[in-house]
Amino acid sequence: VRTSDISNYLRDNGIKPSLQRIMVYDFIQKTMNHPTVDQIFESLSSNIPTLSKTTVYNTLHLFYSKKIVHTINIDENQTRFDSNLKFHGHFKCTNCGKIEDVLLEPEEIKTQINEDNEITESHFYLKGICKNCKIK
Ligand SMILES: [Zn+2]
Ligand SMILES: [Zn+2]
Repeated sequence: VRTSDISNYLRDNGIKPSLQRIMVYDFIQKTMNHPTVDQIFESLSSNIPTLSKTTVYNTLHLFYSKKIVHTINIDENQTRFDSNLKFHGHFKCTNCGKIEDVLLEPEEIKTQINEDNEITESHFYLKGICKNCKIK
C-alpha cells in the first residue's frame, strides 16, 4: 500500500492524514500481527523520534472511533489492533503468542441469533498450540 493511498483512505474516513497517523496505520496493516500500543510505539519511534506513546494511543483511539480498526482483547490486560475489517475471529498460540486470523462465515452465525438483533461488533477468540509449536 502506498502512502498516498493510506492518506486518501484516512481522509475518506474523516481523519486528517498527518504523517504520524499514516505511519501508524501503515504499520498495523503491514505487520498484520495484531500489535499492541507498546509494540507500535517501539517499532515506529526509531523512525519518528518525535513520536510519543500518547500520540500512538490517541491515534488508535481515533482510528477505532472512525471504525477503521478493530480491537482485540484476547489477552485480558492488553488491547491489540487489527485493520482487517472483514468478519473474522482470532486464534492465539499460548506457547509462542502468535495470533492468527480465523475465517468465519457471517451467514452461518446469523442463523444462530435472533434476526431482530443488530450486530455492531464481534469477538471470537480461540486459544491453543499452533502448528509450529506442536512440531517442536
Ligand atoms: Zn506457537
Ligand atoms: Zn485479525
